[in-house]
Order: sequence, then structure tokens, then C-alpha cells
Amino acid sequence: MSATALRRVFILGVPVDDVTEEEACTFAERCLANGGVHQFATVNPEFIMAAQHNAAFMHVLQHTALNVPDGIGVLWAARRKGAPLRARVAGVDLMVRLCALAAQRGWRVFLLGAQPGVAARAAALLRERYPSLRVCGTFAGSPRPEEATEIVQYIRAAAPHLLFVAYGAPAQDLWLATYLPLLQTPEQGLIGMGVGGAFDFIAGVQRRAPKWVQRIGLEWFYRLVRQPWRWRRQRALVHFVWRVLREEVKL
Ligand code: UDP
Repeated sequence: MSATALRRVFILGVPVDDVTEEEACTFAERCLANGGVHQFATVNPEFIMAAQHNAAFMHVLQHTALNVPDGIGVLWAARRKGAPLRARVAGVDLMVRLCALAAQRGWRVFLLGAQPGVAARAAALLRERYPSLRVCGTFAGSPRPEEATEIVQYIRAAAPHLLFVAYGAPAQDLWLATYLPLLQTPEQGLIGMGVGGAFDFIAGVQRRAPKWVQRIGLEWFYRLVRQPWRWRRQRALVHFVWRVLREEVKL
């Protein structure tokens, strides 16, 4: 199933869907009702820049069912193209919202990735918040192919409806594109979503920017101050702005 009913904006070749969190949840319900497997991605400028040099990642992002705009830079670029997106949908916020919905609908969720113990801690905190949430498994593992057989067996046995994968981009998204089809069961739909550092935020291993910082679009800056080693990765943001502006001149 693709997000054909949703408006998509292409930013440097990467499709991004014009969705709110609520619409993304409605879309998820439709996916699960239809059965089959569906991959969601949370696209930010780092994704878009990585995809410029990584053809496999670009291919994955062009074939996901839903790409939510997770980054103020993505909203900025869409606005410059004259196709504004209505809202930023942060991966961690969508994950929590989907867990709330899962608790209501009885969907099983599986948390794969992050450092050992973090997924279990995040799951425990989510269950505290949504007592009827059915967490059918947590596992750190790693995106290395040697581990995939064991992980796939483990997830198949747990039969989740929602699989959140926290290996960072592009590893988590490439992992999902490769292994999601192997997790398909005929009787049940499955959504796989790469969520980056979401388990760290939910488990409290990393602190999120205060709401007002998020509102003014500076969450990326807050993260840079708290995790200065990220500066190399966040240079992508400068390259992103430059590429978007250069594309405009070419037009
Ligand atoms: N991670 C992992 N295995 C790996 C690489 C990363 O479990 O081989 C986890 C890491 O512990 C963190 C998440 O992947 O929980 C990625 O976080 P990051 O902040 O890099 O993601 P972003 O939100 O920037 O995409």
C-alpha cells in the first residue's frame, strides 16, 4: 500500500508525505486493515543528504509506504518549493502515538534496537503509560547481516503488528527493507518503522529538547549542544540548505 491518497513532495528526489500525526495513525490503521507489510520512515535532512550518495537508501525511501516529515529543514525545503507541508512529525512522537493506538486496538508491538536494556526500559515505560499495551518483544541485536536470521525468527514468533527499529539511519531503514518481507504472515498486517533515537528518548537515556525549543524549530540545535559529537553528521544540514537553494537556481 502506498500513501497515494496523501500529497507527496519530492525533496532532492526523496518523497515526503504531507501528514499530521493523526493522519499518520489513520494511515497505519488502513495499512493494518489491508494486511501485508508496510514500511514507514521518518525523513529529515540527514536522510535526504545520505540518500544523494547511497543509491540503496534512496531506493528504499522511494518505496516506503509512508515518509513523515521529521525535521524543520524538510518543512523549510518544501515551503521553498511552494508546496508547504502542514506539520513536522517527529519519529518519537509518532511512535508514542502509535503505541497509544496499539493499546486501544490490541495491536502487538515489538521494539528492536538501541543499546542492550534500552528497548526493554522504553517498553516498560510505555506500558506504564498505556497499561493495555501488548509488547510482544524487545531485543537490542544489531543490523549486522550475521544476526538477521536469529532476529527474524524471534520477531516472526512474536508476530507483532508494529515493529519499531532503532538502529539509526540508514541502517534501520535498509534492515527493514530487506527483512520486512520475511516477517510477513498471511493472516496479519505488519508495519515496520525506523525510529532512530526514539527508544533512548522514551527510556530517558537521552533528554529531548523542551517543548518551546521544539516549537521554534531548534530541536536539532539542542541535540547538537547535548551531543557535540553529532556535529559531523549535522554538517549535512548545511549541505542540505546549499543543495536546495542550488536546485532553485537551476529551475
Ligand atoms: N544503534 C544500535 N545499533 C547500531 C547503531 C545504532 O542499536 O549498530 C542505536 C543507538 O543506540 C540509538 C539509535 O540506534 O538508540 C540511533 O540513534 P541516533 O541518535 O543515531 O539516531 P537518529 O535519531 O539520529 O536517526
